[in-house]
Amino acid sequence: MRVLLVEDDLALGGAVHDHVAAQGHAVDWVTRLDAASDARLTVDYDLILLDLGLPDGRGLDFLRRMRKAGDTTPVIIMTAMDQLSIRIEGLNAGADDYLVKPFDLSELLARLGAVARRYGGNPNPMLAIGPLEIDRGRRQAKVEGHVLDLTAREWAVLERLALHPGILVSKAQLEDALFAFGAEIESNAVEVYVSRLRKKLIADLIHTVRGLGYRLGES
Ligand code: CA
Repeated sequence: MRVLLVEDDLALGGAVHDHVAAQGHAVDWVTRLDAASDARLTVDYDLILLDLGLPDGRGLDFLRRMRKAGDTTPVIIMTAMDQLSIRIEGLNAGADDYLVKPFDLSELLARLGAVARRYGGNPNPMLAIGPLEIDRGRRQAKVEGHVLDLTAREWAVLERLALHPGILVSKAQLEDALFAFGAEIESNAVEVYVSRLRKKLIADLIHTVRGLGYRLGES
């Protein structure tokens, strides 16, 4: 996923950034609302993690402007204020979920995954494609019951393919999935990881659509 993190607390922002990125998501971190608006002009984010008190305004006002403009990008608000009224205000403003600081980073990841699955149209963390079973909650893939030993990059590519079984996924979309692992993506990175996945998947599940991209399972 491409995640926009809006948080001006450098210690917390750094911890959240590193933790979410380590799970294979591409995270852009900004500390102000104007930078968040700029980032959204160029990138179509899958999820926004939004602090409420920013140097140049209130996170809730930012969220209200987004929703008023018809933007349905999932938003999880992060609030230091453990007050029911603030949480209700946030949900009413169009937040999908909230976290009360200090929160556990594993809880953040679980909520992030749940929100992403709901928006992906499939709240079930379990996906089955032929002999392949994928548990997005545990980030685990099995073929015929055997757990595959996948690196974070291989997982990122496989998850992106598995979200749309039987559907063409472009090389650019797979490059997006790999973006989290560094700004420099080698031009053949997607081919490299698809090739490694093919070796680990045993069954020939990933089909190449020449010049266009890849497809997992039958169309
Ligand atoms: Ca803040």
